[in-house]
Amino acid sequence: ASSKQTPVSKSLAAETDALLAQLGVERISYTGGATATRSPITGEIIAHIDNVGAAKAQATIDRAHAAFLEWRLVPAPKRGELVRLLGEELRANKPALGRLVSIEVGKIAAEGLGEVQEMIDICDFAVGLSRQLYGLTIATERGEHRMMETWHPLGVTGIISAFNFPVAVWCWNAALALVCGNSLVWKPSEKTPLTALAVQGLFERAVTRFVQDGGAAPAGLSAILLGDREIGEILVDHPKVPLVSATGSTAMGRAVGPRLARRFARAILELGGNNAAIVTPTADLDLTLRAVAFAAMGTAGQRCTTLRRLFVHESIYATLLPRLKRAYQSVPVGNPLEDGNLVGPLIDGAAYASMQTALADARAAGGTVIGGDRIALENAAEAYYVRPALVEMPGQCGPVAHETFAPILYVIKYDDFDAALDLHNAVPQGLSSAIFTNDLREAEGFLSARGSDCGIANVNIGPSGAEIGGAFGGEKETGGGRESGSDAWKAYMRRATNTVNFGRTLPLAQGIRFDL
Ligand code: NAD
Repeated sequence: ASSKQTPVSKSLAAETDALLAQLGVERISYTGGATATRSPITGEIIAHIDNVGAAKAQATIDRAHAAFLEWRLVPAPKRGELVRLLGEELRANKPALGRLVSIEVGKIAAEGLGEVQEMIDICDFAVGLSRQLYGLTIATERGEHRMMETWHPLGVTGIISAFNFPVAVWCWNAALALVCGNSLVWKPSEKTPLTALAVQGLFERAVTRFVQDGGAAPAGLSAILLGDREIGEILVDHPKVPLVSATGSTAMGRAVGPRLARRFARAILELGGNNAAIVTPTADLDLTLRAVAFAAMGTAGQRCTTLRRLFVHESIYATLLPRLKRAYQSVPVGNPLEDGNLVGPLIDGAAYASMQTALADARAAGGTVIGGDRIALENAAEAYYVRPALVEMPGQCGPVAHETFAPILYVIKYDDFDAALDLHNAVPQGLSSAIFTNDLREAEGFLSARGSDCGIANVNIGPSGAEIGGAFGGEKETGGGRESGSDAWKAYMRRATNTVNFGRTLPLAQGIRFDL
């Protein structure tokens, strides 16, 4: 953030303005505010927003609670209809929103669009789910009794999101929470207020259509709170927010988790990863190369699931490494809006500095570094483009056990599979993982109880790029939360166990007698 006196450049600012207008955002909400928003593509200022104050944040949450009290009474399939309409708005506006994602966080065009597609996919999933919020019927030990469970709406769902998936993370949570009968309050990353305003604009359009079609949606059903961690803390501490889904660094989770626990609120924590892959002697090396290149260099290494550690068997090391080096030296780095570029900029100077620190630490620990140097682009003096770094390490030492949110791939040679697997699991994080092999024993062993300790474990595909149908999240310092598909919806509801006596006697459980 910098002061509003800084001159606004014409090009990206003008395009941002046009995109926001198209997406239904009023100009007043992104011009004239006190906090500048920059595009990492050039480093230029593209908008000025106002952060919300503490009192308004509290009032917004109170309003969301009032909205919840009404929304929970709307039948779930009707709630699904609102999410269907949201999906339609996203389909119709995919090019504009995808482009805005690229401008605000520097993703290449295909990945900006891919992020919006992920939102559409989870909306579709949630619409189906709105007729499938099933509870069990359970055998009871008592005659003429029935036992069952019912899933009820929970309350205001707080969403705190990171900069690197500025819109998809909201939608993974929002689509499920809405069909589950909850209202939403979203604290987006302070680095990505514009895409948050745009998503809110599209949501409001969906609500308008829903109401025109006869639906009942209370005011304040979904709201955003623009601001930094202090605003996030208000959401975390508010007694009317029974669930906060927080995505970001492990440091953030360490702060947020205990605060929520103190008031017995639920947490879905989606924190840092340090994802690895093992390449074994039988791996298909053409496929491996392509998978590693996307997983390690895609999104400029700024995915929670980015591949950061690669264990390569010594028998194929001399074949794979030269090919990997060529890929690192030749991958097109540059303006993500231009066709052909595959790696865009880092989000800001701080990300660049932390990358350089990690590379210096790697050299000090005996690593050999290829790449990692800054690439200057014309008219982008305040942007941070880097050539992705490939680092051959003598072992899992130095910076390798930490997550550095930048494109650095540490490569480590191994000879014994079990020892490689031990190293694979010997980091504090546990998000995503992969094995490249055509050996059934290795593949199944990797997926088994003695294999990868991560929330996501893949065979012959890289660790990044999850589909919405599966539950998404990781273990250990990644926080243990699960979002998106499978039965992740259960975290957004409360379960009631119901026992009904339809007889005329009162048998007690466990055969207890209590005769008056
Ligand atoms: P960050 O931790 O700096 O910020 C994330 C969000 O948390 C922001 O909205 C921030 O304002 C808020 N926040 C920070 N401290 C807070 C506090 N004490 N109380 C309340 N809110 C607080 O993360 P970032 O730099 O935006 O994103 C990168 C990190 O996110 C990486 O570590 C990456 O691995 C992780 N990430 C994880 C997932 C996942 O699903 N596991 C997905 C995307 C990103």
